[in-house]
Amino acid sequence: MDVTTLTIASTRSAIAEKKTTAVQLVESSYKKIKAENPEINAWLTLCEDRAMAQAQRMDQLAAKGDPLPPLAGVPMGIKDVMVTRGVRTTAGSKILESFIPPYDCTAVARLESAGAVILGKMNCDEFAMGSSNENSAYGPVRNPRDKSRVPGGSSGGSAAAVAAGMAVATLGSDTGGSIRQPASFCGVVGLMPTYGRISRYGLIAFASSLDHIGPLTRSVQDAAILLRVMAGHDPMDSTSAKAPVPDYEQEMAKPVKGLRLGVPKEYFGEGLEPEVRAAVEASIAKLQGVGAEIVPVSLPHTEYAVPTYYVIATAEASANLARYDGVRYGYRSQNSRTLADMYRNSRDEAFGAEVKRRIMLGTYALSSGYYDAYYLKAQRVRTLLARDFNEAFQKVGAIVTPTAPTAAFKIGEKADDPLAMYLADIYTVTADLVGIPGISVPCGKTSSGLPIGLQVLGKHFDESTVLRVARAVETHLQP
Ligand code: GLN
Repeated sequence: MDVTTLTIASTRSAIAEKKTTAVQLVESSYKKIKAENPEINAWLTLCEDRAMAQAQRMDQLAAKGDPLPPLAGVPMGIKDVMVTRGVRTTAGSKILESFIPPYDCTAVARLESAGAVILGKMNCDEFAMGSSNENSAYGPVRNPRDKSRVPGGSSGGSAAAVAAGMAVATLGSDTGGSIRQPASFCGVVGLMPTYGRISRYGLIAFASSLDHIGPLTRSVQDAAILLRVMAGHDPMDSTSAKAPVPDYEQEMAKPVKGLRLGVPKEYFGEGLEPEVRAAVEASIAKLQGVGAEIVPVSLPHTEYAVPTYYVIATAEASANLARYDGVRYGYRSQNSRTLADMYRNSRDEAFGAEVKRRIMLGTYALSSGYYDAYYLKAQRVRTLLARDFNEAFQKVGAIVTPTAPTAAFKIGEKADDPLAMYLADIYTVTADLVGIPGISVPCGKTSSGLPIGLQVLGKHFDESTVLRVARAVETHLQP
């Protein structure tokens, strides 16, 4: 069985029809990981015993002829910002180098109770801060489609593993684009659900009002399956919504005929690479060809999204990261004489440069005298951005844009230029600020063969329409 092309649906039927076993799939996944990972660097920790025990449980069910749960035997990886009981969880940081969590993230627990096999934990930018995976304390991840290039970030390991066939699907997290942008760079599907759709319990906090968990997969159908498994209220996360969870597989299969799709002019301006624009426009034309109605819309505050995001995200991060003090978690400096020294030295020795930059920016934005000028103002702009979308959604059912202005860039190309790096998020941060769902689906390639992603944005809790449009894009890519 070729693990590199399996989807969730094909894994399930292969096991049910006894063409393979969950144990065999685990073995071939680890073989692939051991062959490819030294170069790609997508995995930080493997949990072979846990994976094998779960696979055996699934095989016993299949042997008895019992009905299999929806993710039976599906080999998956988890971004290392989600805690896993007994399995090291680093957040890509030296400060959590030897942190072994005592409990499981709700999303991970739900996957496992649906039969998924967790192979291990994925490399990412430190505390999910970055757009290229170059900010990991454990080295960069290489893009399997072109190993001289970044896989995107911060869920770079999660996207690269799916693209390279080292896992059927993975989980990522998205605070400003970290699921969708790496999905676009690696040529896979990446779904960020509505804020509150999936519990954040056990997700290591970066910016709590912006953090989301979501899947990276090889197909839109797989994203729909995983969303259904993970979605729904969790008493452990008071921001998780009590909204009903539809059958996304069914919803996704509905035709887009008659659906009104907005194309915002602000997402097709300066800085958009011509090849990306051409591929996205060609896909939009195909959507029109199958009966979607294309409607020009305007999101006039778009130009303020990146600065707004970098004030709010850093402000929240500065508060969330205060807990890493060398006392309760992870790394503690050995060279300190006083308690204050220990706090300072532990943080200084174990946080990377980008994390420190963000803590300083965020602390500044929140400090007395500057709070009104920065943080409060950013919150007001956030409201304006939400209004832009409310108005657009009066006219259309979903919005289509490029996911990122460029295809994957070279490792090192933007590493010394934080501003250029921040602009890589220009099309993704707004959805996080507004709390609406978004997906990136492959829609073409550049002339040098690099994947290009198209983004679909939808109304709050309307992942169904987002998946439906993405499915249409995916379907019409087939020759
Ligand atoms: N690239 C963005 C940042 O650096 C988004 C990160 C994310 O979504 N976690 O903050």
